Amino acid sequence: MKALCWHGVEDLRCERVPDPEIVNPRDAIVRVTSTAICGSDLHLYDGMVPSMMKGDILGHEFMGVVEEVGRDVRNLRPGDRVLVPFAIACGNCWYCHHDLWSLCDNSNPNAAALEALNGYSTSGLFGYSHLYGGYAGGQAEYVRVPFADVGPLKLENDLPDEKVLFLTDIFPTGYMAAEQCGIRPGDTVAVWGCGPVGQFAIVSAYLLGAGRVIAIDRFAERLDMAREVGNADVVDYARDTDDVVETLKQMTGGRGPDHAIDAVDMESHGHGVMSRIDRGKQFLKLQLDRADALRQAVQACGKGGTVSIPGVYAGFIDKFPMGQAFAKGLTLRMGQTHVHRYLRPLLERIERGDVDPSRIITHRVPLERGPEMYRTFRDKQDGCVKVVLKPEL
Ligand code: NAD
Ligand code: ZN
Repeated sequence: MKALCWHGVEDLRCERVPDPEIVNPRDAIVRVTSTAICGSDLHLYDGMVPSMMKGDILGHEFMGVVEEVGRDVRNLRPGDRVLVPFAIACGNCWYCHHDLWSLCDNSNPNAAALEALNGYSTSGLFGYSHLYGGYAGGQAEYVRVPFADVGPLKLENDLPDEKVLFLTDIFPTGYMAAEQCGIRPGDTVAVWGCGPVGQFAIVSAYLLGAGRVIAIDRFAERLDMAREVGNADVVDYARDTDDVVETLKQMTGGRGPDHAIDAVDMESHGHGVMSRIDRGKQFLKLQLDRADALRQAVQACGKGGTVSIPGVYAGFIDKFPMGQAFAKGLTLRMGQTHVHRYLRPLLERIERGDVDPSRIITHRVPLERGPEMYRTFRDKQDGCVKVVLKPEL
């Protein structure tokens, strides 16, 4: 089959690899019909995750048609059209029983190594390095789906892929970020970052009753999308202001937005060849810079509000305004999305026509163009907000 494989920093190749096979009785093999590139994939592209190996297949946002099931998978049959959550969950552990799917204790066979490195571990993830389980990803013609009796949602409708694909990650991610804010009717929510996750945080904040959303970014096309698709007021942090916190306070009668969402990512532009140690240092520096948005979110957020953080952090950040967070009685919420929890309710929202996720797609291309599309997406060229790859084209 064809698959998008990692070969090194900024070196992805679409190549022929063996088809996946059923390994465990709870596996399914899915033929991928659509798959997307996520901001999190860029961490792999840029070499910021240490446990990628040459030939690893990328991709955690994908959907398709079941080809084959293991003998213990009774909820699915060949021919079923399915959405597959990006985090892999066993369905049986304490975390799965408590609806905390992305914290599953049994789906990452390399959890001990991840814990030794970071002091914590999470569930296994598709296409996201060996520390997260070493599972082949879905930017391929076929993918093995472990615990297929738990994760995949069978689609009973004929909605096109483009309307439902983002239920596998970024729609639930934006939604959980907004839900965690505990929005009251009419609240104002500020969203840092108008990438795909930020766009869904904006849409979701309105779905949950916000009266006003203020979106912050510096890329015109992304701000336009936030305004036109998301109905947000926008702040271009590079042009409109040299003090985002002050601007937000002015826009909200001095009180600050009721809640703040940090959907930002590292501003990486490719760093070429460097040693592992220098790359590690570079990563830490990008994390420190990236935290500007989080500091602003804490400083701008109104008293009693929530700062919700879907954007990924790793390692350490400093100069966190802890005193302000304490004095203002802020709530901080964060973490990897529990996609399983949101699949059905958000699918119903799409079926009802409350939201059309396909509106954020700017690029639809064959899988073969994946390598060039990673660069286009990372560098925000050509108005790129979201890329969908089609293995069948
Ligand atoms: P993206 O890189 O396309 O978007 C990030 C946006 O943030 C960009 O438009 C960028 O211009 C903007 N930005 C950067 N610095 C800023 C600043 N200081 N102020 C305002 N805006 C700023 O990425 P994405 O696909 O939208 O993903 C966003 C983040 O969400 C990433 O960190 C990604 O890894 C993470 N993510 C988390 C989960 C989860 O489970 N929590 C799931 C998916 C993605
Ligand atoms: Zn993702």
